[in-house]
Amino acid sequence: MSIVVDGISKYFGNFQALHDVSLELPEGKLTALLGPSGSGKTTLLRIIAGLESAERGRILFNGQDVTALHVRDRNIGFVFQHYALFRHLTVAQNIAFGLDALPRRERPSKPEIRKRVAELLEMIQLPHLANRYPSQLSGGQKQRVALARALATQPRILLLDEPFGALDARVRKDLRRWLRALHDEFHFTSVFVTHDQEEALELSDQVVVMSQGRVEQVDAPAALYARPDSRFVFDFLGHVN
Ligand code: ADP
Repeated sequence: MSIVVDGISKYFGNFQALHDVSLELPEGKLTALLGPSGSGKTTLLRIIAGLESAERGRILFNGQDVTALHVRDRNIGFVFQHYALFRHLTVAQNIAFGLDALPRRERPSKPEIRKRVAELLEMIQLPHLANRYPSQLSGGQKQRVALARALATQPRILLLDEPFGALDARVRKDLRRWLRALHDEFHFTSVFVTHDQEEALELSDQVVVMSQGRVEQVDAPAALYARPDSRFVFDFLGHVN
């Protein structure tokens, strides 16, 4: 499913967080929203998801205007910063949450939900932890559960807000590889937020560079390196490669 962001402007009080942002995110691509803290990445992701509304502009999924649709009706999977698992629910119950919450006519039967949860637990390679609570999991395990929960309703769009930010370097590397493999298998249209340049360049098909609420550049990772005017990207992030 393709995503079009068309002229989005967002204000928090008098402060303008996004300035007339337009973007095309092609079907099946893994896109990184890259930029320093405060550049508007999370706000843009939340507007695409329908978790936040904008003062101006439209969001289109496959050409259909979804701007007025509630997050529930957009059929997206969302992975929050710091996992945001429900502490009082087990791993299996966390994964089933989105399915249990569907309106009755769309909700699978109880045995179907159990089957889907079992498949997702296999996919994240944690079937042995189905009855644990989040507090009993490592950071990497929590993040895999958060991904399984986001995928339970079989969305065609997967949105991830700093998915690896809280993890140590080795786990982050494993999970990156794993997300890439998952993406390649299921061909979601995926967008993830990061301020880590290396992560954006390694993991994505397309990098959207943001600064102060504006899109500065959209390119494939290789082209970002190649373009002579890309230098500012590395400068404003405080790295020189
Ligand atoms: P990023 O994800 O790039 O770090 P954000 O989208 O979180 O940036 O924030 C962009 C700007 O909007 C920041 O200056 C931030 O302080 C401001 N902002 C974000 N959310 C709110 C909010 N709920 N209320 C007021 N200001 C906000």
